[in-house]
Parts: sequence; structure tokens; C-alpha cells
Amino acid sequence: MAIVLGAIADDFTGATDLCNTLAQEGMRTVQLIGVPNANTDPGDAEAVVVALKSRTAPTDQAIEQSLDAYDWLIAQGAEQVIEKYCSTFDSTPQGNIGPITDALMDRTDAKIVVVCPAAPEAGRTVYQGHLFVWGDLLSDSSMKDHPLTPMRDASVVRLMERQSRGSAGVVPLQVVRQGPEAVRAAFSALADAGHRYAVMDAIEPCDLRVIGAAVRDQPIVSGGSGVALGLPANLGKAGRLGLPEPVSPPAAHGRKLVLAGSCSPATRAQIMRAASLWPARRLDVDALAKGLDVVNECYAWAMAQPADQPVLIYGTADPEDVAAIQSRYGAARAGEMVEAALGGLAKSLSIDGFRTVIVAGGETSGAVVSALGVEALRIGPQIAPGVPWTASIGDTPIALVLKSGNFGSETFFEDAFGLLA
Ligand code: ADP
Repeated sequence: MAIVLGAIADDFTGATDLCNTLAQEGMRTVQLIGVPNANTDPGDAEAVVVALKSRTAPTDQAIEQSLDAYDWLIAQGAEQVIEKYCSTFDSTPQGNIGPITDALMDRTDAKIVVVCPAAPEAGRTVYQGHLFVWGDLLSDSSMKDHPLTPMRDASVVRLMERQSRGSAGVVPLQVVRQGPEAVRAAFSALADAGHRYAVMDAIEPCDLRVIGAAVRDQPIVSGGSGVALGLPANLGKAGRLGLPEPVSPPAAHGRKLVLAGSCSPATRAQIMRAASLWPARRLDVDALAKGLDVVNECYAWAMAQPADQPVLIYGTADPEDVAAIQSRYGAARAGEMVEAALGGLAKSLSIDGFRTVIVAGGETSGAVVSALGVEALRIGPQIAPGVPWTASIGDTPIALVLKSGNFGSETFFEDAFGLLA
């Protein structure tokens, strides 16, 4: 059976978030890790989300991988492809959101593409073309201090124009509230005025459903997971009450591990709490930089902990500590060192029985999933908005959670483990 809806996500937690939305809306959904090839079998999936680690990759590489993924999805039958990025528009002035959008537009006849980061369930809303995080402008939110993609502007128009080839216009909330026909008319007006990107106001899920209906015939749709909310209905899916196959929690496989590389406030609060409950160890970035064998030390420490308790290993630090580390080693190198260490630990510990793994952080999840060699994920039940349990598809499955840094309440890790049998 051919897939009907495809997506290319610029990080792994974002991919899982999107899969969760599509599964909740009634589509059989699979997440593939990395660019698929001729041997990749999407099974009976109706929707396939290709997870790339392209958010902070060199732009040329990000474009190449996105186009390869796009071509594969189209060859599999996808009628529409979502370019998925973070609902906080995580990117630098060089991209990679804009350059990927431009490359996908070149590949299709698209005259105009929606830019729709809104995800109201996660507190991300867009009004008058400005992005808010739980009521704060993006540029006033904790995203201003992100280690890799600090967001210091809340205007989606400016953000998009700075990193792309064309100009952007806004489809205001007043128009969205008039319904899909009015939105389509707004697209035409923006295109006639020479704009390439339509920044979508949306503050409630109902707005996203209107936008979903309005983009029914567009080959590419760009946005956060929210932009997908209304797409399954275009394909005759019944929505929340009509899940084709109820999903059950993946069986718990052996010992429980939490690996955190996110420095976002939500993850920091989750780590603080979990560290008061379970054995916890912080990665020493200075020791990593000196080339000491931190990974093996952490491995031995984790193996020595009581087998019936989750074990927590994290790079997570406060903004001041992150700034100090970055001033010593540079942001990219510091991030890579932590990611490599957590990836290495995931690999060695999973071999030795830790096969129920929660990862916090988008880039971190990319590093961990790559180190584990996971190729595809089945989507399980939702733990918190945007975060489901997943199970790797293959001979010896791993139960995995890939949590975007800022998602989930303080008790997220306990809630997640509590969902397992
Ligand atoms: P989020 O989902 O919150 O954006 P990510 O994993 O995408 O989280 O990004 C966090 C980045 O910060 C990663 O590259 C990670 O390796 C890096 N990092 C983690 N701990 C530290 C630290 N103590 N100092 C500097 N960088 C860190």
C-alpha cells in the first residue's frame, strides 16, 4: 500500500511529535531515521515521517538530505509533503528552514508555501505574524538562550526572510477565522503580490484545522507539528475517535535509562526532580574536553546502580553554566562533546540491558538514535502533548521516548515510565 502523506523533519524529537499528531488523527504512521533508500520498507504506513538531523547541519547537507527524502517520499506515493521544523522556529540567520523551503519549492510547482509554526497545545501561538511561547514573545522566552539556536526575534516574517530567497506575508487570524476559502484567497493575493511564504496566524487548534483544509492541494506545507492537525481530514481520516489500530505501550525491555542533553527549562525542572528520586550523574564537560574517559566511567557507574531503579545521566545545565562552558570550548564543540558522550552511553548501556530509554533534547535524540542504529520507530501512546512512547522496529526492540527539550511537565519521566506495563 502506498503512503499518502510524507514529512521531512529537521530533528528526531520533532519527527516524533509530528508522528504523534498524525497517529492521534487516525493515520497509521511510521518514523524513519535518516534518508530512506531503495531497501527501506515503510510497511503498511499511510504517513511516513523521515527524521533528519538537519536543523544545525551545514546548509548544503541539510538541503541534499531533505531533497533525497522528498524524492523517496514522492516515489512511495506521497501526495503532499510536510517540511517539519520546531514550533519555536529553531534556526540561525543562515537557516536551515528557509533554504530547505526554497529547495523544496524549486522541486515542485509551489508558488507559495505556508509557514505555520503554531502548536497551541505546546503553548506556541502566532498572532500578527509574531510567535509566542506560552504568552511571551519568542524573543523573550527561554529560547533566547538556546545553546545552538538562540531565538532573538519573534517576527516569523523577518525570521523567514532573513534565511530565504523571497519575501513573506501574513495571513491574519481574522482571515483564518473566515474559513478555508478565505485563506485560499489570501494565498492567491500574497502570491500575486510577489510573496513566496505565507506566515499563518493560529492561536487555537481550530485555526490549524482551517489551515489544514486550506492547504489541501498544496504540494508542500511547512510548519511545526500543529500544521498537520487538519491534514488527515483531507484524506478522509476520522480523527481522534477513529484510530485505525489502538496502540498499546511497548513492553518494558530491561532496565530504564534517562539521557538528557537539553538545557531547556522544562528539562531542567524534570532533571531536578528525577535526580531527587533516582541515581543521577552529570556529565563533566571539562573532563570530556580534556579527553578523559568520561563515557566509560559513567557506564561503570550506571551498571553499578540498583537494577530496579531508572538511571539518569545528563549534560543539562543552567544558562550561566552553559555560557561558561561555551566560552571555553565554543557552542558547537560543547554540544558535540555532550551529544557524543550520551550517544556512546546509549549504545554501550543498551547492549547491557538498558532497553527502555528516555532521551531529552532534539539534537541529543538525534545523536542517541544514530548511535543506537535505530532505523524506524513505531508510534505508541502519548505521554504528554507532542511526546509518545515509541518502539524501534527490528529484531531486538528498544522502547524509546524522544522528548523535545521544552516539552512535558516536571513529572514527565515518572509519567512516562508509569505508562509502561
Ligand atoms: P532542546 O530540545 O532543548 O533544544 P537539544 O538536545 O536539541 O535540546 O540541544 C541542546 C544542546 O546543548 C545539545 O547540543 C547538547 O549537547 C548541548 N549541551 C548539553 N549540555 C550542555 C552543557 N552543559 N554545556 C554546553 N552544551 C550543552
